[in-house]
Amino acid sequence: MIYQRSSALFTEAQQYIPGGVNSPVRAFKSVGGTPVFMKSAKGAYLTDADDRTYIDYINSWGPAILGHTHPEVLEAVQKQAEKGFSFGTPTELETEIARFIIENVPNIDQIRMVSSGTEACMSAVRLARGFTGRDKIIKFEGCYHGHSDSFLIKAGSGAATFGNPNSPGVTQGTAKDTLLARFNDFDQVKDLFRNNPEQIAAIIIEPVAGNMGCVLPENNFLQKLRELCDEHKTLLIFDEVMTGFRLAFGGAQERYNVKADLVTYGKVIGGGMPVGAFAGRSEIMDHLAPKGAVYQAGTLSGNPLAMRGGLETLKIIKKDSDFFNRLDKTTEILDFEIAKILNSKNIRHRINRVGSMMSIFFHIGAVSNFDEAQNANHALFNNFFHHMLKNGVYLPPSGYETYFISSAITENEIEKTLEAVRKFEYS
Ligand code: PLP
Repeated sequence: MIYQRSSALFTEAQQYIPGGVNSPVRAFKSVGGTPVFMKSAKGAYLTDADDRTYIDYINSWGPAILGHTHPEVLEAVQKQAEKGFSFGTPTELETEIARFIIENVPNIDQIRMVSSGTEACMSAVRLARGFTGRDKIIKFEGCYHGHSDSFLIKAGSGAATFGNPNSPGVTQGTAKDTLLARFNDFDQVKDLFRNNPEQIAAIIIEPVAGNMGCVLPENNFLQKLRELCDEHKTLLIFDEVMTGFRLAFGGAQERYNVKADLVTYGKVIGGGMPVGAFAGRSEIMDHLAPKGAVYQAGTLSGNPLAMRGGLETLKIIKKDSDFFNRLDKTTEILDFEIAKILNSKNIRHRINRVGSMMSIFFHIGAVSNFDEAQNANHALFNNFFHHMLKNGVYLPPSGYETYFISSAITENEIEKTLEAVRKFEYS
């Protein structure tokens, strides 16, 4: 049995940890089988508890854009650790990373560091409500902004994977302030504004959705939302937890040339450490405590190890002027070559891709919203997933997730990946 040790570890973990995992999608519930327990990672590869290696297309769900354990990041974090793990005081390093980000990202004057993407999105919405004095927000079906109550309504990612996009435990009172629209459906958004005049504090959106699989904005959707928000004095929040520092250094704001009022970050900004952040213009950010009245705090916010890991990662990306081109090119090759192989086998599919994010949907036409993503053949995806896993390629264990390509993927890994796809038999 190839996953022998993982299997034993999973049995034991279930005794002590709910469902055996600390984040649901890791349990492989939707694809079936035993989750693979990893013990180390380096560059493009993960090594599991049974000493098998895998080419990694999850990269810790996005953060490891340089591949795993990049030597320069490792050295910087090690040196930082020698100075202390956490002080609970301000540090010069926090200003250094804030300045670096603000100087290199369009449209933000100030940034507040937190410890996860969930915290970033939750805090940005609170700030938007405090700033506008309004209660309601608009979110899009299939988008995931973390597990804060107001977002667990028709949510993507693990919530969609387990068929539970509306979580029990979220009160009616909270749910009524989250208005829903279909991704890419501008008319629905306009209707929500018409029916809730002067009540909508913010639209929060993944500018490229990554949590219903990868779904791109179409027909100037983001620009139109920008104009609508201006018209109604509503804040536009881009959740760039996935797209920030990945689609471009300035994220989706730069790639699509649309400026949000507030932007949330996570994943790449921490280089694999637990970090999130939210940022915006000073006139809005000034409303945060201690300067303003909107409260937000965190024991480990701005943690020095996390700041060092993040800053070093961002600097490595920034100094390489061809970084994003190369990453995009790798992803484009994967897209074209996988499509060629699947076509040669008459396996109907759709690959959505932008930058270094992509997803394969099976047996389906265009996928531009959550309904269409749900209509894909997820059983076939599950077979594909297990086939790739057996052949040493680690894809996200759900058809509702995005593959994150790292700069550690070279021609060699691409060829091995394509070889695995070539062996796939439709069943
Ligand atoms: N926003 C988006 C777009 C995400 O993809 C995620 C997590 O995957 C989050 C927010 C929540 O981030 P975290 O898991 O760090 O709390």
